[in-house]
Amino acid sequence: MRQVLVVVGHGMVGHRLVREVRARDGAGAWRVLVLAEEPRPAYDRISLSAYARGADPAELALEGASFDGDEHVEARLAQPVVRIDRAAGAVYCADGSRAAYDALVLATGARPFVPPVPGHDLPGCHVYRTLDDVAGIRAAARPGLPAVVVGGGLLGLEAAGALTALGMRVQVVEAARWLMAVQLDEGGGEVLGRLLGGLGVRPRCGVALGSVDAGPDGAVRSVTLADGEVLDAALVVFSAGVRPRDELAAGADLATGERGGFLVDARCRTADPRIRAVGDCAAVRGRCHGLVAPGYRMAELVARDLTGDPGPEFTDPDLSAKLKLLGVDVAGFGDAHARTAGALEFIRTDRDGARYAKLVLDGTAGTLLGGVLAGDTTAYATLRGLLGRRLPGPPDLLLAGAGQ
Ligand SMILES: Cc1cc2nc3c(=O)[nH]c(=O)nc-3n(C[C@H](O)[C@H](O)[C@H](O)COP(=O)(O)OP(=O)(O)OC[C@H]3O[C@@H](n4cnc5c(N)ncnc54)[C@H](O)[C@@H]3O)c2cc1C
Repeated sequence: MRQVLVVVGHGMVGHRLVREVRARDGAGAWRVLVLAEEPRPAYDRISLSAYARGADPAELALEGASFDGDEHVEARLAQPVVRIDRAAGAVYCADGSRAAYDALVLATGARPFVPPVPGHDLPGCHVYRTLDDVAGIRAAARPGLPAVVVGGGLLGLEAAGALTALGMRVQVVEAARWLMAVQLDEGGGEVLGRLLGGLGVRPRCGVALGSVDAGPDGAVRSVTLADGEVLDAALVVFSAGVRPRDELAAGADLATGERGGFLVDARCRTADPRIRAVGDCAAVRGRCHGLVAPGYRMAELVARDLTGDPGPEFTDPDLSAKLKLLGVDVAGFGDAHARTAGALEFIRTDRDGARYAKLVLDGTAGTLLGGVLAGDTTAYATLRGLLGRRLPGPPDLLLAGAGQ
C-alpha cells in the first residue's frame, strides 16, 4: 500500500523536497500531500526584488510548482497547518481539515524579525519576505519620498535596492558598526557603505532603532534612532534578520534549538522518527542556516532517506558569498574575519576608497584561510580556488591583481 508523505510549507525548500522525492520514487511508493500557507505555489523568493522592480509574479514561478499532471502529488494552497497530533500521526489545518501521515516533513521557513520598538506596527511599516509583502511595498512606495530600511545585512540591502528602484530616497539603519557584518570585515563594510552613499543610499551604522513615529494621520512619519537622531520616513521596511517558523513545535512537544527552529540531527530527523524538518525552519544539530543552498541539501538528503537510498549526512555549508548590491560588488569567503588563531591579514585599499581587498593567511602554514573584496570582485573565483593552499606569490602582489 502507498504511504503518505505530508509536507508542511510550499516554499523553495519544501518544493525541492517534493521534486527530489518524485524524481527518486519511480515506483510511486509515496503519495505526497503539500499543505501550504501561501495562496500560490512555491516561487523564487530569492528573486523577490525583481518583482519589486516591476517583474510579473509569473516570472518567479518555480519549475513544476503546480504539479500539473502528477497524480502522486496534491497541493492544497492557503491551507496552513495549525496542529500536529503525533500520537494519531495526523496534522490539522486552519479550516479544521485533517490529514494523516506516515512521514511528515516540516518546511515552514522563517519570518522576518521585527524589533519590538514603539511604533513597529504602525501603518507604513513593512517586511520583505513574500510576494504579498512586496506587493504592499510597491503599492505604498512614493517616488521622491524618504524611506528607512532597518537592517544593513544582505536582505536589508536587497530591500534598499528595491525601494531605490521604486524611486524612494533610502536610508539604512544598522546596529552593527558596518554593513553586511556577517560576510564582510570592517574595511569591506565601510567601502560598501561609501559606495552605496555615492548611489544615494545613506547608511547609518552603529546605532539601534529607538522608535517608529506617527504623523497626524496615524501613519509612519519618521524613525528615531537610539542616539536621538530623527530620520524622515514615509515608509519603513524591517529587514533585520529572520526567525525560524517553529510555532508547530510547542503543541506537538517537539524540541527546538536554542535560537529556535525544529531541532533535528544531521539527517534532519526530529526525536520522532516520523517527523523531519528542512530549510530555514530546521535547526540542524542546533543551528539554523537561513540560506537556500543548505536547505536544498537537506531536501535531497531527506528525499534519499525516504526513498531508501541514504546519502551523506548534512555538513556545515561554506558561507562564501559574491554579490552585487545596487551595482556594488562585494565578496567574503572562508575565514573572512580572521578568527583562526595566529591568522595574518594582508589588506589593500585604494586611495579613493572605492576598492578594498583583504587576504587572511595561516601565520604558520602560509595557506589561504579567507578574504574580503569590496568594489571589485574579479579575483574572487581565483582566490576561492586557492582556499586551503599556499599562495602562488606574495599576498600584496595578488591583491594588487585583485584590485585591478
Ligand atoms: C528578498 C530575499 C532575498 C534572498 N536572497 C537570498 C540569497 O541571495 N541567497 C540565499 O541563499 N538565500 C536568500 N534568501 C533566503 C531564501 O529565500 C530562503 O533561505 C529560502 O526561501 C528558504 O526556503 P524554505 O522553503 O525553507 O522557506 P520559505 O521559502 O520561507 O517557505 C516556507 C513556506 O512555508 C509556509 N508555512 C509556514 N508555516 C506554515 C504552516 N504552518 N502551514 C503551511 N505552510 C506554512 C510559508 O508561508 C512559506 O510559504 C532570500 C530571501 C529573501 C526574502
